[in-house]
Amino acid sequence: MQKLAELYSGKAKTVYATDDADRVIMHFRDDTSAFDGQKIVQLARKGMVNNKFNAFIMGKLAEAGVPTHFDRLLSDNESLVKKLEMIPIECVVRNIAAGSLCKRLGTPEGTELSPATLEFFLKNDALHDPMINEYHIRSFNWATDAEVERMKDLTFRANYVLKTIFLEADILLVDYKLEFGRFHGEVVLGDEFSPDGCRLWDAATRKKLDKDRFRQDLGNVIEAYEEVARRLGVDLTSSAP
Ligand code: ADP
Ligand code: UDP
Repeated sequence: MQKLAELYSGKAKTVYATDDADRVIMHFRDDTSAFDGQKIVQLARKGMVNNKFNAFIMGKLAEAGVPTHFDRLLSDNESLVKKLEMIPIECVVRNIAAGSLCKRLGTPEGTELSPATLEFFLKNDALHDPMINEYHIRSFNWATDAEVERMKDLTFRANYVLKTIFLEADILLVDYKLEFGRFHGEVVLGDEFSPDGCRLWDAATRKKLDKDRFRQDLGNVIEAYEEVARRLGVDLTSSAP
């Protein structure tokens, strides 16, 4: 597998072309950003931890029947993935109220949401990722109705699997964001699942073990990610595929 030109560099990852037109390399950097990139810091080991964490979770989701872009780990910071035509929508599932939902609806943080709720956001930093609904998606042609149904189905299927995995590690899956793309006509889970894109609380103490530690300057950000990885049984030591 040959690494070719850089295709895109986002806030946390860089995507490279390969000699296979259907595959790209995702490089997980140590850059950590919040508030639409206004706050950016380098956190040692973050790229490595998120790369391996993501590999572990994508494996679990694939086992549960969620098609993902993940192929294999290439190194500490790189994974080989299917090249997707990304759908510019963030699918957020919430099991417990936190973050922007609390601000928008005045709900106290920690309120259980039963059943879990789902929200769509447009992936657009300049517009601060505004919340959108299915009518917007249809009118602006961001995705077809069939694709929206599939994204909803896969996002909730992921919730069932992941809530269980985290709970077995005494962790509450509060909320998370998924991004999908198209691969030869099929809707496939892309991007990453790591503590950067979800909220995870210790089940007993409700201690935050995710990116809110960075957003809220709580300290020990990567130590918390590593703690989650350890509890889940993610192997952070081996660097080879
Ligand atoms: P952002 O663009 O939000 O700053 P990142 O730094 O994580 O995010 O950059 C990764 C970029 O790569 C994102 O825009 C994401 O949509 C895109 N991406 C994720 N998975 C794939 C894939 N399999 N194929 C092509 N692009 C992808
Ligand atoms: N999220 C994300 N990327 C975004 C926006 C949100 O990964 O651009 C994740 C975030 O980490 C949380 C969930 O989606 O797990 C819901 O985020 P929320 O809408 O509460 O936004 P926030 O206030 O955290 O930006």
